[in-house]
Amino acid sequence: MASPSRTLRAFILDIDGCLSKEGIPIPGSKSALQTLHSNQIPLVVCTNGGGQLESTRAAKLSQTFHVPITSDQVILSHTPLRTEVVPRLKEDRVLIVGENCAEVARGYGLTKAEGIREYCRRHPTLFPRRREADDTNLIVDDSDDPVKAILFFEDPEDLGEALQLMMDVLLTNGNPSGPRVLLNGEVKQEVEVWFTNPDLVYSGLAQHPRLTQGSYRLCLEALIQSATAAAGCTTSHYSLHSTADDLQSASNVGRRLQAATVGKPTRLTGKTAVSKLLQQCDATTTEEDLEIWTVGDNPYSDVALANNMGWSSALVRTGIWDGDVSLLNGSARPTRVVDSFGALLQELNIT
Ligand SMILES: [Mg+2]
Repeated sequence: MASPSRTLRAFILDIDGCLSKEGIPIPGSKSALQTLHSNQIPLVVCTNGGGQLESTRAAKLSQTFHVPITSDQVILSHTPLRTEVVPRLKEDRVLIVGENCAEVARGYGLTKAEGIREYCRRHPTLFPRRREADDTNLIVDDSDDPVKAILFFEDPEDLGEALQLMMDVLLTNGNPSGPRVLLNGEVKQEVEVWFTNPDLVYSGLAQHPRLTQGSYRLCLEALIQSATAAAGCTTSHYSLHSTADDLQSASNVGRRLQAATVGKPTRLTGKTAVSKLLQQCDATTTEEDLEIWTVGDNPYSDVALANNMGWSSALVRTGIWDGDVSLLNGSARPTRVVDSFGALLQELNIT
């Protein structure tokens, strides 16, 4: 245990609904952020949004809040892929889901990253709706350059096109001009799949919740299960982040998609946040020395992250949640409920 005198407060701040709303600062959040900065208190901002480089988001935040935020202080939904995926798959073909996100992936050092639309253009028969009359490249054999991973950076631009291409890539273990080897239950899934946002829905301007990545994951899982069940595939293989659920489903007919998820409230995102907080401390500081607070408006994301990691959490009333704390279950139960991020700093006597 660290001695109390070594305990250093550090903050993981949610953006939307905590610091700002649709890019406009929430009253008090600008001065609260400036207070943390002037007290040299370690902080990162952490969002399940993505689709851009951390440096781009950092520049926008610095401009909005008049506080210097560096790219090392920004965790986007896909930031953990920099350590979990990029070092292994730098030179490999990877398929990127999300509008304009292939460019972001290439910026991460994934030299052969290709967006769904780019891949489709190179393989024009896969999604006939996109095929141009003068496309001559009818069958492209990628056996020497198979897709090694599908990375969801953001919601798909066109769900139909994305599902078709992902099914082709997954069932053929990376080369859609080859046989659908996964229809044989004995063959292992070789293409890694990473999602970067576990949420099924989010709250937008519409009357009812809007679908996001978690929902699209359900679609892909259902299609893989149904395609392999129809082929009489009765066994499953477990490799990437298997869970008890995976093992239980072994008796089901059809395959269970092997996939991993990062983003709040997963521990991989928590781990990324800790390493970025420690980068802002002196070299002798360890995780045990930090009293880490997550601050955010979503009990199932911001608070659950803290509970998954054993940290403290403050649930603010400036965003999507303004309910009764006693109705929240264990993993979503915060350490404190506060009116705003600014109010939290006052309660903690940080001035
Ligand atoms: Mg939020």
